[in-house]
Amino acid sequence: MIDVLKARSTTPGCHERVHLNSAGAALMSEGVLAAQVGMLNLEAEIGGYEAADEMQSQIDGIHHSVAALLHTSADHIALVDSATTAWNLAFHSIPLEPGDQVLTAEVEYGANYVGLLKAAKDHGIEIVVVPSDADGVLDVDALQARIGPRTKLISITHVPTNGGLINPAAEIGAVATEHQVPYLLDACQSAGQLQLDVDELQCDFLVASGRKWLRGPRGTGFLYASPTILTTTEPPIIDHDGAPWVAPDRYELRADARRFETWENNYAALLGLGVAIDEALALGLDVIEYHVTTMAELLRTKLDDAGLETFDLGRAKSGLVTTVVPGMEAAEVKDALRAEDINVSVSAPGSTLLDFVRRDLPSLVRISPHYYNTEHELDVAVAALAALAR
Ligand SMILES: *Cc1c(COP(=O)(O)O)cnc(C)c1O
Repeated sequence: MIDVLKARSTTPGCHERVHLNSAGAALMSEGVLAAQVGMLNLEAEIGGYEAADEMQSQIDGIHHSVAALLHTSADHIALVDSATTAWNLAFHSIPLEPGDQVLTAEVEYGANYVGLLKAAKDHGIEIVVVPSDADGVLDVDALQARIGPRTKLISITHVPTNGGLINPAAEIGAVATEHQVPYLLDACQSAGQLQLDVDELQCDFLVASGRKWLRGPRGTGFLYASPTILTTTEPPIIDHDGAPWVAPDRYELRADARRFETWENNYAALLGLGVAIDEALALGLDVIEYHVTTMAELLRTKLDDAGLETFDLGRAKSGLVTTVVPGMEAAEVKDALRAEDINVSVSAPGSTLLDFVRRDLPSLVRISPHYYNTEHELDVAVAALAALAR
């Protein structure tokens, strides 16, 4: 079990407000903050390059921390500034020609989907949206049935930004492996709240951000690239760090996933990410997963008891909970709660447009509790929502 009081006492943001927006940006711990402030101070005192030299072993450790989170080795990890950067690096590594198909899900994230639309416009690819079953879960049989000779990529969001759904990422991976189709998994909303093992998931790429459930700093993200990807593709953009310039007419790609990185980095932020992941690993992702999903289920029950509808798809559900206050825009609800020091977020249609259109949904109030939240805080938030509803 997690010592929630201890987690709260080492999380400055817990003291003055009720933070229920871990799917947006979770609260950083004192340790994550200290790692960043320490690096910034060192850079200011002795110089940026000199600080990086002095911190080299800690910097090298960050790849190992991400690798441990995903149950892989550090040579499969690239550190970047966001999941969107990671997704684009992954997506544009796959050569696509007119008529090639990319299979995706009904809950694909907006940034990814506009990337697919741009590839449709620029390269004439075809986007094939795999339907979901009655529970809203991606239908793996339907996926299987849609794979053909023109299928060049499966790009799936594991947990969407707009609710508790968990897509069957490992089953999808088994299908991808069977048909030898590259598989790009967006694990932004699962990294840090659910257990992830890239061998079980059988994904070729996995992308995530640091600031969400992992409790890392903003402006951090990472990319996992499988052994197959590292031997069969090239990054869409390179520099002389990931691809050393070895002769006037030749570069040589690094063997590891750092070929996806470029030279310049915000080391303070990345060191914070490393600490955040180490702290999550110390608690245990299995324990965190149990805690978060239990809190979210409790919240759904409390909302239901208060007469407030929830909109989360799926069977076993994750830590994202969505609701509305009848007669109020989600943004107004967010602002009203913010005025009471309660942080929630809004899921707007453009974040997952296919799902919003299909279900004819309004903007949703998204509430995402982490393990540092208490049941009392859930009660405070539900009472505030119920008061607005009256
Ligand atoms: C937040 C999010 C992203 C984008 O992550 P960034 O780090 O903001 O680029 C992608 N996919 C999902 C499902 C997300 O929730």
